[in-house]
Amino acid sequence: MAKAVPAVFGSVFHREMPVLVFSDGAWQPVRWQPSDSLSLPPGAHSLHYGSECFEGLKAFRQQNGRIVIFRPEANIARMQQSAKLLELPVPDAQAFLSAMLELVARAADEVPDAPAAMYLRPTLIGTDPVIGKAGVGSSSAMLYILASPVGDYFKVGSPMKLLVETEHIRCAPHMGRVKCGGNYASALQTVVRAREQYDANQVLFCPNGDVQETGASNFALINGNEIITKPLTEEFLHGVTRDSVLRVAADLGYKVSERNFTVAELQAAAENGAEAILTGTAAVVSPVTSLVINGKEIVLQSQERGTAIRKAITDIQYGLAEDRYGWLVPVPER
Ligand SMILES: *Cc1c(COP(=O)(O)O)cnc(C)c1O
Repeated sequence: MAKAVPAVFGSVFHREMPVLVFSDGAWQPVRWQPSDSLSLPPGAHSLHYGSECFEGLKAFRQQNGRIVIFRPEANIARMQQSAKLLELPVPDAQAFLSAMLELVARAADEVPDAPAAMYLRPTLIGTDPVIGKAGVGSSSAMLYILASPVGDYFKVGSPMKLLVETEHIRCAPHMGRVKCGGNYASALQTVVRAREQYDANQVLFCPNGDVQETGASNFALINGNEIITKPLTEEFLHGVTRDSVLRVAADLGYKVSERNFTVAELQAAAENGAEAILTGTAAVVSPVTSLVINGKEIVLQSQERGTAIRKAITDIQYGLAEDRYGWLVPVPER
C-alpha cells in the first residue's frame, strides 16, 4: 500500500479531525469535523494570551500490516502537564487516547509504509471569548488532533550544523517543559538569525554555558561509552524520544549519565572524536555533523553510534525488533 508522501512536513492532513470541547465545567463527547478550517471567536483566549499547547507523536505501519502508535500515554501525560502549567482544562486521558486511536483507524489507508509514518498533532487551545481575561486562565477549551503523513528525513551524513548559543535563552526558564507555541515564538528570532548568519540548521541553547536543548529537540553527547544529557529540570522540554534513547542506549551497553555539562566539556569532547545527537519525534535521532562555538566550526568525525541508536528505535517502531519496553499501542481495525 505504498503511497506518495508529501514533500513538505505536515502540509497534508486527514480530512477529518476529532474535536473534544471543554465547556460548562466538563469535557463533552467527541465530535468529528472537517480539518480544513476551524471557527473561533476572534477574542479567544489562546489568540491573545497564548493559552495553547500541542503534542507530536507518530503512528507506524508495520511489515505485517498492523498499525501502531508509539508511546501515546507519554504524550498524553505531557499534554496534561502542559495544560496544568498554562491554567487550561486538563484533557481526560481515556477520551484523548480513544479519539487518537479512532483517528488513526479512520485514516488507516493514509498511513504510509516504512520509512514514512503518520504524524499526529494534538492541539489544546483556550477558547474563552473574553479579552479582559489576561490574568485568568481560560475556563473553556478545545482539543483537536490532526493526522499528517510524513516522510523520512533521515540521511546519514546530511548536514546538521548547530550554532552553540550561550547568550540567548530559548524561553523563560520556568516554562521549558511546557510544549507550547509561546516557547517557539520566544526562540524564533535567534533560530532565524543563526540560519542567516551561520547557515546553522539548529541553535543549541546553552545559557551561561549550560548545555540544554535546541529549539525543537533534545541534545545528547556520546563520548566513548558514555551518553550524556541534561537531567530533567523545568528549563527544557522532556522529550519522549530522549527517554526512549536513554533506555535503548542503556541496553546497548552505554553508560547513561543524566547530568549537567558545559560548552567547554562539549567542545573538548567534540574535538576528540565524540558524537552528538538531537532527539525528537520527527527525525527520531539526528546525528550532529558540526558545532559552531564562538564563531569557529568544529566538524564531528563520526555519526556511527547515533545512527545505530536510531536504528534500534525505528526497528521497534516498524516491528522489526521486539517491543521489549511495551511502547507500541495497536490501532484497532475498523
Ligand atoms: C517536542 C520537543 C522536543 C522533542 O520531544 P519528543 O517527545 O521527543 O518529540 C524537544 N524539545 C522541544 C522544545 C520540543 O518542543
